[in-house]
Amino acid sequence: MDRTHAAFQRLLDEYGPQRWWPAETEFEVIVGALLMQQTAWANVERAIANLRDAGLLDVHALAAASPSTIRRHVRVAGLYRTKPPRLKAFCRHLVDTCDGDLAAYFDRPTDVVRADLLAQPGVGPETADSILLYAGRHPVFVVDAYTIRIGTRLGLFTTQAYDAVQRHFETHLTRDPDAYREFHALLVTHAKSLCRPRPKCGECPLLGACPFGRRQRS
Ligand code: SF4
Repeated sequence: MDRTHAAFQRLLDEYGPQRWWPAETEFEVIVGALLMQQTAWANVERAIANLRDAGLLDVHALAAASPSTIRRHVRVAGLYRTKPPRLKAFCRHLVDTCDGDLAAYFDRPTDVVRADLLAQPGVGPETADSILLYAGRHPVFVVDAYTIRIGTRLGLFTTQAYDAVQRHFETHLTRDPDAYREFHALLVTHAKSLCRPRPKCGECPLLGACPFGRRQRS
């Protein structure tokens, strides 16, 4: 079996299905992805709960709200000078392009939606691909620091370049949004539990296939 696919299967056997993204709606995925930068997920969850309680977890409501109003509710997610205006601008863009209809927004070729996302303020490749995969069900693999850490340790690739790492996963896995979601989530779980900066290789189900891990233990 292909090594990348085998790693996916071992992690799935170890941790079970992760069923990401932890959100109730596609719009909530988008808000979460836009608030994620440089903060812990728990803070994003609190910011989303604040927006929900205030009746603002809605594309039209956020597009119409003032940045200072949004700031009051999402301050807990940090970067409070940049995140509120970016959140508002993104929602404004969704209203302008598709009247806030997410199904219509995502119902275009992947490269067209990706280019549009990347053109929005504060949206980089990881945020754009998270939105595409988890809110739009487009088959793009999300790359993050955890993906790169585990993949390089396993010797799956040597590059740290976003596009090259993404290409690796997209050419070694079946083109399936559900598989991409699961593997990305499993990599995050594994990076937080065992493949940490100081890894616990002795407990790792991937040790037999991991050159880095074997070097650690020799
Ligand atoms: S063996 Fe160690 S370095 Fe390799 S994937 Fe497991 S925890 Fe990470």
